[in-house]
Amino acid sequence: GKNGYQLFSHEMHQSLMHRLQIEAELREALALGDQLKLYYQPQISSSHGDVVGYEALMRWEHPTKGMLSPYDFIHIAETSGLIIAIGEWALLEACKQAKTLSVSHQHFTRMAVNLSALQFNHASIFDHVKTALEQTSLPPHLLELEITESAIIDNVDDAIVLLNKLKKLGVKLAIDDFGTGYSSLNYLKNFPIDTLKIDKSFVDGIVNNPKDAAIARTIVQLALNLGLSTIAEGVEYTEQHELLKTMGCDGLQGYLFSKPISSDKL
Ligand code: C2E
Ligand code: CA
Ligand code: CA
Repeated sequence: GKNGYQLFSHEMHQSLMHRLQIEAELREALALGDQLKLYYQPQISSSHGDVVGYEALMRWEHPTKGMLSPYDFIHIAETSGLIIAIGEWALLEACKQAKTLSVSHQHFTRMAVNLSALQFNHASIFDHVKTALEQTSLPPHLLELEITESAIIDNVDDAIVLLNKLKKLGVKLAIDDFGTGYSSLNYLKNFPIDTLKIDKSFVDGIVNNPKDAAIARTIVQLALNLGLSTIAEGVEYTEQHELLKTMGCDGLQGYLFSKPISSDKL
């Protein structure tokens, strides 16, 4: 109509139907309560080699498709709004697990939970964090929220207010995938951040690409100078481990140590 036309292909129809089906199944998974799981990937102290914390990573045990990774469903969870309820569930589940670990595990210092930009910018987030801590009586300093740079940059003024409220509650705050988004040194100055997570893309090249090595070294130095801690993600080789340790990176996470594991294997 109106001198314009649109193409509607069979493929577009297929992909829309696929999306809607996943969305309906995800809604059901959340309601049933036994298909969504958190897996836990150990974080190792580079100075003494012990496991000091875990990052909670979501999995979906789909009844017919098998184990799905967040890359297969988080986007649909976000566009459908389901991420808010799923994220609320994940926070509570991770805090329960952390509470258990805090009793049984001598060096346990942190349970890291990912927040997507949509969750972080949703009005309910502060209450969901507070409620999860209260319901599990987890000491707040044992919970670390991982937020990406883009989540913060969406609305800087609101982000500062929220981050300060969370900080006052006592939880730790980490910038995930540091260096890959809209990095601004300004927010490191103004936001109450505790930890920078060095993105896997830098860790990948750290041994063979001098630029990746320079970036990783600079992130660690910057963090040291600002009194923040650092964790490198995606460490797969001993050479990466050794280099990161020499650079002064505090925590290490990656397949070299362990893949994310189910709670019964913790
Ligand atoms: P991320 O937060 O950057 O998590 C790191 C991803 O790298 C994880 O993938 C982890 O399993 C994987 N990984 C860890 N070590 C290695 C390694 O040595 N080599 C390789 N190749 N990969 C490694 P996963 O679990 O598939 O999660 C993907 C993304 O989904 C996460 O990226 C995070 O952004 C998101 N995500 C995961 N769980 C949640 C959640 O509960 N809520 C939200 N909002 N997002 C989540
Ligand atoms: Ca993360
Ligand atoms: Ca990453």
